[in-house]
Amino acid sequence: MPINIKEKTRTGVINPIFTCQPAGAQYASIGIKDCIPLVHGGQGCCMFIRLLFAQHLKENFDIASSSLHESAAVFGGVPRIEDGVMTLLQRYPHIRTIPIITTCSTETIGDDIEGTIRKLDKRIKEQMPGRKVKLVAMHTPSYSGSQVTGYNEAVEALVRTFATAGVKNEKINVFTGWVNPGDVIEIKHLLAEMGIDGNVLIDTETFDAPTMPDKSAFTYGNTTIEDLTDTANAKGSIVLAKYEGGSAADYLKSEFDVPVAMGHLPIGIKNTDAFIANLAKLSGKPVPKSLVEERGRAIDAMADLAHMFFADKKVALYGDPDLVMALAEFCLEVELKPTLLLFGDDSKQVAKDGRLKELGDKVDYEIEAIWNADLWELEEHIKNNPGDIDIIMGHSKGRYIAIDNKIPMIRVGFPTFDRAGVWKKPVIGYRGTELLAETIANTLFADMEAKHNREWVLNTW
Ligand code: SF4
Repeated sequence: MPINIKEKTRTGVINPIFTCQPAGAQYASIGIKDCIPLVHGGQGCCMFIRLLFAQHLKENFDIASSSLHESAAVFGGVPRIEDGVMTLLQRYPHIRTIPIITTCSTETIGDDIEGTIRKLDKRIKEQMPGRKVKLVAMHTPSYSGSQVTGYNEAVEALVRTFATAGVKNEKINVFTGWVNPGDVIEIKHLLAEMGIDGNVLIDTETFDAPTMPDKSAFTYGNTTIEDLTDTANAKGSIVLAKYEGGSAADYLKSEFDVPVAMGHLPIGIKNTDAFIANLAKLSGKPVPKSLVEERGRAIDAMADLAHMFFADKKVALYGDPDLVMALAEFCLEVELKPTLLLFGDDSKQVAKDGRLKELGDKVDYEIEAIWNADLWELEEHIKNNPGDIDIIMGHSKGRYIAIDNKIPMIRVGFPTFDRAGVWKKPVIGYRGTELLAETIANTLFADMEAKHNREWVLNTW
């Protein structure tokens, strides 16, 4: 049945699904080793985002702010960038790159970021001879796009700045998109099983920082400047989230002739199979038995749950477009019915995405997809169609809708702060798929018990 794709008609946003573009740029930047981003704007553009990262990951990250005040609106904020960069370089001798992330106010003022970088490059050379640092312009005004486009802009800016032709290697760039550290670990596991030397961008595995005996708990990203430089020399690139890293891979293709496989987030069996097939094709390596077994275990776990507990349950999904589309495909694999998909920004590309049409072609009921949506759309849908949604899947900002309407909710995406350790657990790959199916099942079981709804089934299952 054709999918019903529409834009939210109401003016204004009530309970946004996404945060703003600089959030995506900041998330990509904290994933780079020896890097502290400088957010050029009011303090809140940095502080509120840091707070979200701390809520989600329970870790602190170094992010600087140029901290503009009223005078900058009149005279411009360039001196604040200059002061900010020089202070960072003096205080942190290890820094090798500083992304300069613009915001609503500084894009409106029209501060010349590229010109300021040229001026600063000269100043650093004169005042700090021998100091090697790259300043990277990231333009992320937040009156268009969202955290999704901001992440994409940042990854492209990093690759454009650092990618340099050198000796060709056997590595495969894997652009993960904005996924959790647990997903990155799973991607690295799949690469290791395949015997592939991967260049995972952005590698956030180290976000799970241990507290050491000396009480230090330093959190840093794991993608190095050398990794970014080497992207130009890879055997190929695989993009897992088209809207979050796709343009960086396109740049590598056009500038350095690095082949690109534009894939889907490997959630569910079909999408993980496609990722493994892309890895096998680009590397020329066979799929090992260990992965065939992992796949088999995931299918076994899904079969145990699908028909008995999941069949025909209607699911509302919201979040990043690549995540929502992959989750919807996964739902169909376990007999769940994705019926409402909400995309939280004004990207018309999403509305035209071929994956939505494919989803509609697979089902015999109507799926509604709303772009430029907010969480009020979800609330209204539930209010106007009582009993129509059985499960909500999305980040923690929708928790009150789930609580108020007594609908079981699965936490996925960013930010998830009302359940412990969500960010450590993958939804990607065969093992992530298995874990996701079990998380959904356990959420439903707890709901059955709380509502005394067929909970006796669990005695015999
Ligand atoms: S919406 Fe604009 S002003 Fe508000 S935090 Fe984001 S960048 Fe800053």
